[in-house]
Order: sequence, then structure tokens, then C-alpha cells
Amino acid sequence: MSLNKKIQNAPQATLRRRQAIEERHTAREAQRIANEKARELRPRDFPGGVHPPGNKDQSTGEPIGKIPLAEDLVLPLLQHSGASALPLVKLGDEVLKGQKIAEADGLVSCSVHAPSSGKVIAIEPCAVPHPSGLAEDCIVIRTNGEERWCELEPCEDFTLLSPVALLDKIRDCGIAGMGGAGFPTAVKLDPHGGREIDTLIINGTECEPYITADDMLMREQAEEIIDGITILSYILDMPERVLIGIEDNKPAAIAAMRAAVNGTRFDIVVIPTKYPSGGEKQLIQLLTGREVPNQGLPANVGIVCLNVGTARAVYRAVRFGEPLISRVTTVVGKALERQRNIEVPIGTPIRHILKHHGIHRGLMQKVIIGGPMMGYTIDDECAPVIKTTNCLLVPTSEELPPAPVAQACIRCGFCAEACPASLLPQQLYWYARADDQEKLQAYNLFDCIECGVCSYVCPSSIPLVQYYRAAKGAIRQADTEREKSDRARDRFEFRKLRLEKAEKEKEAKRVARRKVAELAREQQKQNLEAEGAKTDTGEADIVAAALARIKARQEDPKQLLARAERSAASAKSRVERLNSKLEAATQNQRNQLAAQLKAAELKLQEARHKLTLARRRADRDPAREPGDEETNAAVRAITKARAAAETRAGMRSAERLAADIEALRNRIRKAEVRLQKARDQNATNLEAFEAALDKLQKKLEDKMREQQSAQNGEP
Ligand code: SF4
Ligand code: SF4
Repeated sequence: MSLNKKIQNAPQATLRRRQAIEERHTAREAQRIANEKARELRPRDFPGGVHPPGNKDQSTGEPIGKIPLAEDLVLPLLQHSGASALPLVKLGDEVLKGQKIAEADGLVSCSVHAPSSGKVIAIEPCAVPHPSGLAEDCIVIRTNGEERWCELEPCEDFTLLSPVALLDKIRDCGIAGMGGAGFPTAVKLDPHGGREIDTLIINGTECEPYITADDMLMREQAEEIIDGITILSYILDMPERVLIGIEDNKPAAIAAMRAAVNGTRFDIVVIPTKYPSGGEKQLIQLLTGREVPNQGLPANVGIVCLNVGTARAVYRAVRFGEPLISRVTTVVGKALERQRNIEVPIGTPIRHILKHHGIHRGLMQKVIIGGPMMGYTIDDECAPVIKTTNCLLVPTSEELPPAPVAQACIRCGFCAEACPASLLPQQLYWYARADDQEKLQAYNLFDCIECGVCSYVCPSSIPLVQYYRAAKGAIRQADTEREKSDRARDRFEFRKLRLEKAEKEKEAKRVARRKVAELAREQQKQNLEAEGAKTDTGEADIVAAALARIKARQEDPKQLLARAERSAASAKSRVERLNSKLEAATQNQRNQLAAQLKAAELKLQEARHKLTLARRRADRDPAREPGDEETNAAVRAITKARAAAETRAGMRSAERLAADIEALRNRIRKAEVRLQKARDQNATNLEAFEAALDKLQKKLEDKMREQQSAQNGEP
């Protein structure tokens, strides 16, 4: 080929080479993704664990059944983790199926709904399924058999609702985890402050022997479970991975779920049967390799883990608006004629269920809630099925022989080898026996999932889990007590600080007042000294001023005449008014008016006399000296004023105040008399009298306050 031809073909060759490289890269990337996915879906392992007999076949022989409705349904207010719900109904209320009868109390709590229509016949403590055997507050409904539903809110397309609205719906329907401790599902789906959720795990392992409730649910309701997972995935903002873990001893459930999962991006991971692979932390480790930290939550490692039953309950709550009022429960044990799974209304008494499964009381050893590994025995069969009751195991003595008497620990270490939480069970056992709470916490007692593996493998048959349960209870109790006493101590210290602060403030005020009082006393002393020097001149000044005023008045005969004329005219007018009133008065009023008229006539005479005198003086020489009568009156007044001033000067301040108050009281009494008189006379200047009286009363109040302050030692 010529050089020119080669140059022309060069770009095409380069293009082909590039295409080939890109294709190789794409193929490698696809291979890498496929490998990663395969690796992801390959279950890992967790430490320890055991392989007890499954005993699953007894209860999977027939489909999920039903039993007749019980006469009474007993609904505990606490069927979940967190706070008890608060009753919304009262005794005698008629309720409908699905009606909310108790409201969640706070974030970590769950509402309770009526599983059937009927009447509330009791709200009282009743037996409940709990290891403590203690009674709890319950609402008891006597069913009427009508099964009348309350109005529900179905939703055909959940994508029309926001995740927040869906969470509200789930919360409102009282959904709690149905495979474990019953943690409120809405709280799990809305992890506050947790890291971003990238994986949703659905737990279909059901590793505990005898229990097949989830197995049967997956076989029969796989579609509903997958629809529920779709809703959960939507709420969690489409996490990267949705893994459904199922143990390989449930081939029928795996097949049903695989068929239902077709067309979705959810992955079913089949894991080898080993107990306790259904433990939340163990399943997370199996499926993702991530380890939930000590006392941490799955949300801390970006995972939410829910049970298959919970997923189905979420679907029914969102699609049909149905609250959680029933669940699938395994009823199993050789002491029963019929062993199977039933969908039973929450609140159904266990006695009622056993009756409908042909219980042989002679054969029965005990009633266990849950399985033989993690379950607990109940004494009272009146206790009801609650949201977390996944199994009623009623074994015979041959089937589940009573535990042999515990022997001493031989320190074999089997328990530590088998513990799936990598704890040291024998150490925990010693510390639990010694009630050493500090050491128990240091050895991570609260990471124990109470799986019972350690007890299962213990050659000395030590009921290790019972010790851990009791120790956990004691620590929780001690924590509560400590919290209470801490709160009480905080309150006490806060009060002490508050009182000290108040006392300091009072003391500061007292010191300030004392200083002001000292200053005032000093000032007063100086004033008194200064006044003492001036007393004589001051008094002389007062007398001189009074004389001058009298003289001034007396030295103006025209003013005196004018005043006398006004008084005479006023007295005359009053007499005339009273005369006309007397004419128009009734017999009852006459006596009083006659007396008033007489007094008025006397005043008129007096006024006329004064007028005559004034006229005479006005006619006399204006420069004359005051008359004897006037001079005597003035001298009397001056003498009185001087005596009063002298007495006052000799008084202490408290005495002076008391004297002022007494004087003011006298003046008030007189002012009241004057006012009454003015009223009687219908005087035109009543307001002036009233104002004068008010002024005096105000002055008296001020003086009395002053006296009170002085008595309290205030400045
Ligand atoms: S298995 Fe039992 S006997 Fe062995 S170390 Fe643990 S507690 Fe002790
Ligand atoms: S019960 Fe607790 S200590 Fe015992 S094996 Fe299980 S997790 Fe470990």
C-alpha cells in the first residue's frame, strides 16, 4: 500500500481501535459490577451460633387459619418498646373495629386499636405476656360479633403521599416491629440524627426453633410483603440496596418470595440455617459485613432492618388504612391436638386459643411465649396475644424436658465460643451473681441479645440468660433510681443556690439601706444643729409673720366688710332656701328641716352682727390698732403655735410622726364634719370640701407609710 493510502486509512483504524477499547472497558465494568453484586449477595458469617433442632414441620402442614372471635379481648396499653399508650375510651364506650382506643404517649410509643367492635367493659391491670409476670393496664372489650369497621382511609397510590405523610399513617396505625421487641416502626424509619440509610434489610430468617409464623406469611402473602417493602423503600428515599434475608430451611417461602420479587430491584439472600441468624445485628453482619457498634443501632451503620410481618402490616396500613389489629402466630407443641399458624386478633386470650387447638392439660408441661431458646413461660393463660407474640409453644415433658439442676461452672469456655455477640458469658455470669453492675456494664452486658445460646451449650446447665435478664433489670432499675436521685439533687442544689443568691441580694439591700439611713441620720443631725441655733429667731419669725398676716387682714377694713357681706348674703340665701323647702316638705322631713332652719337663722344673725361691726370699722380710721378681742385671739393663736413648735422641737422623729398623724386625723375629722355640713346645706362649693378632705387623707396615708417604713428600719 502506498504511503498516501495509508495516511487516508489512518483515522478509520484509530476509530475502530477506540471503539474496541471502549467495548472492552464496558465489558470489564459490567463484569466488575456483577462480581461485586455476587459478592454482596454471598452471605458472610457471624461468630458463634448453634444448630438446635428446627421443629418447623409440625406447624407448616396447613395454611394460616382462624379461630372464632373471643368473647373478651384484652388490650395492654404497653405492647411495644417505649411508653404506654394513653386510653382514649372510658368504661361503657361502644367501639368499632379498627377504632383507635389508646393514643401513643410521645415519640417512642404506639397507639392501640380495637380489633373488633364491642363495648369497653374494663380499664384495669390484667395479666399480660411478660417474663416478669406482672399485671399491666389493659382495655378490655366485650365483642358483639358484628365486626363493624370504623371508617378507614385507603390509599391506592402511595406515591401521591410524601414520606412524612406515610410515616404519620404508619404511626397512626400503631405499627410496631412484629419480630422482636416491638420497636415503633415509624421511629425506626425516621432515625433522628443517624447517618444516611443506604440499605434496607427485611428479616425473613425466623431462626428460632418451632416458630413458623414468618415462614407461612411469606408463603401465603409474599405479594403484600413485597408491596410493603416497596413502600418502605420509598419512605427511606430509595436506599441503594434492599436485601431480604431468608434461611435456607424455608424453600417454599423462598420460592414464593422470589416469584413476588420479580421485576423489582430487591434481592433475596438465602442464608445457611444457624441460630441466631435472625438477630438484628447478626443478620446485618451476615448480609452486609457491617458491625453495629456496642449499644448502637443499625441506623448508625446506615441500615434499617424490619421484619417481613412488619412490611406486610405497613402495606395494609397504607393501602387499606388498616391499623395493626391482628397478627400471624404459631400455635405449636405436642400438648395440642392441632398445630398450625393462625391469624388472630390482638388481645385474644391465650386460653381461648389453646381451647380451639385441643389442649391436653394432662400432657402439657408449660405455656411458652416465643420459642424454646428466647421464649419465656407464663402462668396466667388469660394473658392475651399482643403485637409481638409470634408463637405459643405448649410442649409436653418428653418434647421439651425441664432443665436439669444447674451445676457449678467448670470454666469450659463453651459459652464464650458459641456467643454470637462475642461476649464472655461466664464472666457475665460471675458478675451477675456478685451483683457487680460496673463490671457487667464494662463487659457489655447490654450487647447480649438474650439468644440463649450460652445456656444451650452450657454443660453445667446454668440458666445463664436468666441471670443476664435479672441483671439487666436491676441495672435499669438502679439507673432509674440514680436518675431520680440526680434530678432530686439537682433540684436541691438549684434551690440552695437560689436561696443563697436571694440572701446575698437581701444583704446587699440591707447594707445599702443602712448606709442611706446613716447618711440621712448624719444629715438630720447636722440640720438639727443648724436649726437649734436658729430656733429662737425662727419662732420669733413665725410669730411675727402671723401677727403681720393678722394685721394685714385687720388693716384692710374693706376686705373685712366684703367678706362679712358675702357671709351675710350666703346665710340669708340659705335661710330662704330652707324656708321654701320647709313649705314643700312632708311631715317626716319637717322636723329635720326646722332644726336646720333654726341653725341657719342663728348663723344669719351672727353674720349680720359681723357685718354691722365690719361696716363700723370701715367707717372708722383705717390706721387704727386692732381691737382687744381680735388681739387676744391672735395672741392665743400665737401662744398655741409657739407651744406646739417647742413641743415638736423636743420630740424624736418617731414621736413627731405620731403627733403629725394624730393631728392629721383630727383635721380629717373636722374636714368630714365640714363636708357633711356643706352637704346638708347644699353648698355650691362641695367639691372644694371634698378635695380638701382627699388631700388630708392622702397626707395621712403618706405619713403612715413613713411611720411604717421607720418601724421596719427602712431608710
Ligand atoms: S459453658 Fe457453662 S460451665 Fe462452661 S464456662 Fe460457660 S458457664 Fe461455665
Ligand atoms: S444470651 Fe447473651 S451471652 Fe448468651 S450467647 Fe446469647 S448473646 Fe451471648
